[in-house]
Amino acid sequence: MRSLLVGKSLQGRPITAFERPAAATSGRVTKLMVVGVIHGDERSGLEVVQNLRTMPLPPNIDLVVIPELNPDGVAARTHKNADRVDLNRNFGTSDYAAAGSQKQASGVHNSGPHADSEPEVVAFERFAELEKPDVTAFYHQPLDTVDCNEAASPELARICNGYAQRVTAGGTALETSYNPRPGAATQWLIQKGLGVSFVVEFANYSGPAPGNGMAPPALARLHAEALLGSVEAAEA
Ligand SMILES: [Zn+2]
Repeated sequence: MRSLLVGKSLQGRPITAFERPAAATSGRVTKLMVVGVIHGDERSGLEVVQNLRTMPLPPNIDLVVIPELNPDGVAARTHKNADRVDLNRNFGTSDYAAAGSQKQASGVHNSGPHADSEPEVVAFERFAELEKPDVTAFYHQPLDTVDCNEAASPELARICNGYAQRVTAGGTALETSYNPRPGAATQWLIQKGLGVSFVVEFANYSGPAPGNGMAPPALARLHAEALLGSVEAAEA
């Protein structure tokens, strides 16, 4: 496992990644990128990340994980970053300009003064352009769904449906849905040709305020297995 520096947050916290290179020496390798937390009050993805550090990997997956893209938000348990900007509305997508109604500091989805105004977003964009992921997954809460633009590609549809089926088999009904969001990271990756990407939303779980409570450990493990299994199956 090697450690990588993605960049720094507004308050100077390092944004780090770790990579577990593919064991396969031949055949196609899929680079799977995972972002554990982009909204600081939605931290269940960190439990998935903990599993991904040590669990067995399919040999053809090259895994790159950014546990916390919003470390200031994680530290403060806030949805947004220290600028009070929603990082998942700040990406330089073609529809960013249409988010005018969201550009107010008081808004739930404050998208910032302009696209790419936040250091966390710029750091992620540079890192993704260097890493060139084939598949990227982002973890959120509390909508309890796989949020996936299945129309973007048959490969993505296979991954999202496979993920949902694997988690459902464990007793949690996850459906796929898609909500286009201006300035969202998934849309930016797709528009840049950086593979396919999707969102997994955990539910909210009982826990100490503020923010969403953490998923039960067995469920987080199931999600990690669903992620690796669905990507492996879709790319085979
Ligand atoms: Zn979120």
